[in-house]
Amino acid sequence: MPLVDDPRTIRSAVGHSGRTAVLATKHGKLELIGPSMSRVLGIEVVAVDIDTDQLGTFSGEIPRTLSELDCAIAKARLAMEERGSDLGMASEGTFSPHPDVPWLTTDRELVVLVDDRLDHVFWECAVSTEITAITETLGPDADLTSLAVRADLPRHAVMVRPALPSPRPGHGAAQVVYKGIRQSSDLASAVQASCATSGTHQAVVTTDFRAHCCPSRQVVIAAAAERLAHRVGSCCRACGAAGWGTVDIVRGVPCRWCGRHVPIVRAEIDGCWNCGIRIERSVGEAAADPGICATCNP
Ligand SMILES: [Zn+2]
Ligand SMILES: [Zn+2]
Repeated sequence: MPLVDDPRTIRSAVGHSGRTAVLATKHGKLELIGPSMSRVLGIEVVAVDIDTDQLGTFSGEIPRTLSELDCAIAKARLAMEERGSDLGMASEGTFSPHPDVPWLTTDRELVVLVDDRLDHVFWECAVSTEITAITETLGPDADLTSLAVRADLPRHAVMVRPALPSPRPGHGAAQVVYKGIRQSSDLASAVQASCATSGTHQAVVTTDFRAHCCPSRQVVIAAAAERLAHRVGSCCRACGAAGWGTVDIVRGVPCRWCGRHVPIVRAEIDGCWNCGIRIERSVGEAAADPGICATCNP
């Protein structure tokens, strides 16, 4: 018999349908995150215009010091405090070189749902390499027409700044970053202005990763929100709490020839944050290809 005043029993009874979540966003993420939360969970998401740049910017003017998860939670909490809400949301994107293919950029999008009624943070990620991402250093005479094609302008946007060292002596302390540039005339003038203030007479052009400027990122944020909605909508079969899903992976598949364990994923573990139940689920092949075995193919 469950104890009625056990916090785990109380948490099992908390649902989400009919509640309103506040979404911290300055960059138009409501239409990416709201629909799946509404359709799958019956949560109405409302945008709160929070200046999330204080927690770090893609342009590097303000470095992100928190982990992506802590940063997303901090953003959601800003919106919750602003509106006095017990349900908050935010998303956080991270761009990095692909571990195996360094010239490919990987976009990892994290979306959180902070629930103070449950005293729990739900989160999910989506990862994509189908992202438009350029970083190019160029001089004042560079061919901007081909750059615009590589940067997918005007569908995407770019940021332009002076190459380091910058600024040149006598040009003041602040480094100007031109953001949200989609038109070739704006690109040309930003490149000229940046070259003029750079110590190397060069400008750096990068993809503007802010969500409203980056459609290839928007689909990844929407995918992460969809995964989050389904996770929150999955209930633990033991205690009924929301948020059942994968909590861990297990590595170690025996090599087909020698039987030694190769460190690839053997199983995923589904679990419940509320009652602690864990169930292992096998994934992939039962035996590993000798070609990836350190003993058979050193
Ligand atoms: Zn082997
Ligand atoms: Zn449970």
